[in-house]
Amino acid sequence: MAASSVHNMTNGINGNAGGFRPLSSSTSSSCITSSGTNGGNNGSSKTGGAQRIILWFRNDLRLHDNYMVYDAVQRVKRGEASEVLPVYCFDPRQYGATPWGSLKTGAHRAAFQLQCVEDLKSRLREVGSDLLVAVGAPEEVMPGLLSSSPPGGSPAPLLVFTSEEVTSEECRTDVRVARAIKRVGGGGRLLRFWNHTLYHIDDITLPPSEQQQQQRQQRQQGSSGGGGGGGGKGAAAAAAGGSRGLFAAGMQDMPDVFTPFREKLEKHAAVRRDLPSPRRGELPLPPAEALSEAARTALAAPLPGWDELPYNPPGIRPPSPPAKHPHAVLDFRGGETAALARLHYYLWDSDCVSRYFDTRNGLLGGDFSTKLAPWLAAGCISPRRVYHEIKKYESQRGANKSTYWVIFELLWRDFFRFFALKHGNRIFLAGGPTGRSLPWNPDPELWRRWRDGRTGLPLVDACMRELAATGFMSNRGRQNVASFLVLDLGIDWRRGADWFESCLLDYDVTSNWGNWVAAAGLTGGRINHFNITKQAKDYDPHGDYVRTWCPELRRVPEHKIHEPWTLTPQEQQAAGCRIGQDYPRPIPLEQYGRPHQHGGAAGSSGYGGGGGRMGSSGRPQSARGGGGGGGGSGNGGGRGRKSEFERYT
Ligand SMILES: Cc1cc2nc3c(=O)[nH]c(=O)nc-3n(C[C@H](O)[C@H](O)[C@H](O)COP(=O)(O)OP(=O)(O)OC[C@H]3O[C@@H](n4cnc5c(N)ncnc54)[C@H](O)[C@@H]3O)c2cc1C
Repeated sequence: MAASSVHNMTNGINGNAGGFRPLSSSTSSSCITSSGTNGGNNGSSKTGGAQRIILWFRNDLRLHDNYMVYDAVQRVKRGEASEVLPVYCFDPRQYGATPWGSLKTGAHRAAFQLQCVEDLKSRLREVGSDLLVAVGAPEEVMPGLLSSSPPGGSPAPLLVFTSEEVTSEECRTDVRVARAIKRVGGGGRLLRFWNHTLYHIDDITLPPSEQQQQQRQQRQQGSSGGGGGGGGKGAAAAAAGGSRGLFAAGMQDMPDVFTPFREKLEKHAAVRRDLPSPRRGELPLPPAEALSEAARTALAAPLPGWDELPYNPPGIRPPSPPAKHPHAVLDFRGGETAALARLHYYLWDSDCVSRYFDTRNGLLGGDFSTKLAPWLAAGCISPRRVYHEIKKYESQRGANKSTYWVIFELLWRDFFRFFALKHGNRIFLAGGPTGRSLPWNPDPELWRRWRDGRTGLPLVDACMRELAATGFMSNRGRQNVASFLVLDLGIDWRRGADWFESCLLDYDVTSNWGNWVAAAGLTGGRINHFNITKQAKDYDPHGDYVRTWCPELRRVPEHKIHEPWTLTPQEQQAAGCRIGQDYPRPIPLEQYGRPHQHGGAAGSSGYGGGGGRMGSSGRPQSARGGGGGGGGSGNGGGRGRKSEFERYT
């Protein structure tokens, strides 16, 4: 069956039920492998034997509205598949140190992930299935799960389902898995399902035609083994020959600024219906004899605990899961159950959604924003579920600017994922999609003062301390601390992105790196340089937020709380806060910053070239942990226009 036909829509649900995309689809070339292509067929067995399916969960830790789960159910119903084994791997690559020296998965997110996995297991058990949880690299775990010679003959074809990622590090893992399972008895294949965005990529791009697929495969076979970042993209876009959809294949012609992207989607595309969760019995587990001994043991074993998380080297493991901080905005609990409960609370129990537009720039408390981000990032809730629930709320309790604005924010999330698909590794490179080479300040002490919340600027310090203590920071805070690091201190933005990756509960590769590269002014849009003290006065007018996280400033009077360096010696004494001793003097900014004013030229041009070299692990080397490098220049579309990013700040 041709790829173009299997993506048809029926009744609002993708026609091939799952809408899977072959591995050779329009992602960066690093995830393209000849072993991974399935030529666009739907993975059906040509021999007629019932398929064995492994559901490989990653950042899609839910049963509702999950294309790979739904597709497995449909195959079981049609008699094409007889067994479905859900699997989650704690991948050691996620628990190492980054090239900048941070924990790739910090303690807050690690604890949250454990909860997500625990919840998924219990929800799967409720429908008569289970979750096999392994500690190990998926490409090593996956091939050994099913018995190679089941009783009664030759093994049935193995299909591994997973959600499609768009960034190189994640795609490289796909390639490894595709290669590893190809060798198992009966030959295994990896099918990837588009699962993360509000708008489905197939509804907004022209899927590659059969002819284009063939051309692409020929190019891959002719190429010397992939590995470069984004090398084939320009060619792939050219092969797509323009767009009959909203955008060309691979989003190559999407605007680099948000507003035209959003407007096009809102005007011309529809959000799909969200898919139902499986019912009891719809995901039949393989019989015990069809599982390897290791798989049987793992299924019966208790879930890995904190000490089993594969931190490597083991010495970097945080000593224990962090306890809830008394000032945390919320007691985030991982898992689909808590995610759906939060959505229900924010809409139906509290009506907070109807005030969101006015509260969204808050800094303190649980309700100023949805706080759905950690669950969205782990895939515990689908953006489509949020969308349709808001639509239901609007029809029952009324629509207003606030209810719309939550959906508007979800579009930012889509924007950054599609932006990453378009620009490939450029979102990780020092010069971002613009390829500008800027003179960053290498001062390690300045960096540490930012990271540890000791800059002497109360709003920045409060935000950074909140992040480290709880794993969360408001959107307002994130924009300010990013602007301060990059545009006031002149420190390489990738250090900030790396630290956020480590700390954030809601870390999402494309939202994080995309927001950071945009904050660094390297996406082609206008540069947002925040006046931190003004922002502090606007958004924390009484200093409550600063006092919460910088207790040494607790007694500083309101009119000086955001400028404590202006306290006279007498006022310092009265406030019990000596500047320079109890609270730091501000960093003398006039000595630093303004990298764009001294900024170098754009990097080498030529769309298909720039991806940076790949390390053996991690993001492209030139992006993660030093080295220069910059991609070719991207489409600077919209340069000079006021972006939505700036408009809502
Ligand atoms: C430097 C920087 C780094 C960021 N890193 C991440 C990240 O790793 N993961 C992440 O989910 N968000 C990231 N954001 C976006 C935003 O700050 C968070 O999504 C938001 O603060 C989470 O709180 P909330 O769920 O209450 O958001 P709400 O205000 O309730 O918004 C609803 C949802 O919309 C989405 N959203 C809102 N704003 C953005 C945005 N600018 N970009 C992408 N999605 C958005 C999120 O999924 C969010 O949960 C980052 C922003 C900046 C400036």
